[in-house]
Amino acid sequence: MIEERYDVAVVGAGPAGSSAAKAAARKGASVLLLEKDRDVGYPVRCGEGVRRKELEEHVAVDPKWIAASVTKFSLTGPKGKEITLDLGPKWEYLILHRRLFDYDLARFAAEAGATVRTSAYVDNVLKDNGVVTGVTYEYRGERRAVRASAVIGADGVESRVGRWAGIETAVEPRLMGCCAQVTAANVDVDPTVAAFYHGKDFAPLGYLWVFPKGERIANVGVGVSGTKDATRSAREWLDLFLRERFPDASILTEVAGGCPSANGLERYSVPGLMLVGDAGRHVNPLTGAGIPSGMTGGAIAGEIAAAMARKSTPDLALDFDARYRRKIGWRHDGYEKVRDKFYSASEERLEELFDLFLEVPPEKRTLRRVVQHALAKHPKWWKLVFKIFFN
Ligand SMILES: Cc1cc2nc3c(=O)[nH]c(=O)nc-3n(C[C@H](O)[C@H](O)[C@H](O)COP(=O)(O)OP(=O)(O)OC[C@H]3O[C@@H](n4cnc5c(N)ncnc54)[C@H](O)[C@@H]3O)c2cc1C
Repeated sequence: MIEERYDVAVVGAGPAGSSAAKAAARKGASVLLLEKDRDVGYPVRCGEGVRRKELEEHVAVDPKWIAASVTKFSLTGPKGKEITLDLGPKWEYLILHRRLFDYDLARFAAEAGATVRTSAYVDNVLKDNGVVTGVTYEYRGERRAVRASAVIGADGVESRVGRWAGIETAVEPRLMGCCAQVTAANVDVDPTVAAFYHGKDFAPLGYLWVFPKGERIANVGVGVSGTKDATRSAREWLDLFLRERFPDASILTEVAGGCPSANGLERYSVPGLMLVGDAGRHVNPLTGAGIPSGMTGGAIAGEIAAAMARKSTPDLALDFDARYRRKIGWRHDGYEKVRDKFYSASEERLEELFDLFLEVPPEKRTLRRVVQHALAKHPKWWKLVFKIFFN
């Protein structure tokens, strides 16, 4: 067994892990970022959509990452009613080339001083007296152990780092979105419009999305709840939609995966270790989006990890939970309430909501205005929804 020593060991080079590694390295820590796949950023299991404003909180956006800049959302309701909303500059939505994006995030971590290793498969954590003190991994046919003052688990939705460290990471099946997505060429899409479809004819207890990636190419995906009484699988819902809407589509890539829409865990940390990104279920529980919250959690954990190394205090990891909740968790609590209300509503109630949206004249239909209009009729929700979406 080859033994190594770093201040910080990060498991997984997705957006959360690379952000954590960069933040820790920038604070002067020696960092080892371990990724099991041969290639950072591949395979891509993502719709690749992100609000520009949220991305810019972390990095300067490189134009080469952008496959499409979306300025409108089109929403289709349960009975096929459709509404198109202008997003305005504050809500510009980008469809990324995640392969390039993830790659660059790992490169930024390396430029900040982190050592990045791919084909490095982490298979356990090391513990001393209940404190996590490192990880073991397989690299180029060799067994290795890295001792670290802080370990950050950023190993995605199938995370095992948390379980090894004794953190309960299981998610109720109903809250685990089952997703299927294709990147389809030869599809008739407007490259400035992202389309969402709701209701039991498209994606029961979930939604279907069409995210343009340029002219005549799009990510078309569906996420449905993992409840036992699901009538069709996510893939079947997707195939049905593709047959009806895009009969000439050619499929370039296909992915399947889980989205933990569970609003976090009871705890994200134990002495010596923090969980970030999908590993910590840091996903927007309404939409399933996890890129921005993963990067935010990663950056917080990276800073704490550097301080753990400086002060030799493994218990500092426990600060992560409160800091994450203050920054993002409270907002996800709100999204969770909106989600539960939305998915427990009957199709008739959703239709009523669409009808309220449609009362706003077409030339005035911005996301903000239709939500304001609908909330004027349901003032109880005003404070919460406004705070979440428009602050
Ligand atoms: C179909 C689908 C569509 C989605 N669409 C969107 C979207 O449009 N917008 C959005 O914001 N989010 C979306 N998401 C969610 C988003 O993809 C995730 O939230 C995001 O990738 C989480 O980043 P992460 O860094 O936590 O994990 P990941 O990106 O999953 O990275 C984890 C990394 O850890 C590595 N790893 C795992 N185990 C080990 C190990 N034992 N040793 C070493 N390395 C390991 C993996 O190989 C991987 O590279 C979607 C998810 C799915 C499934």
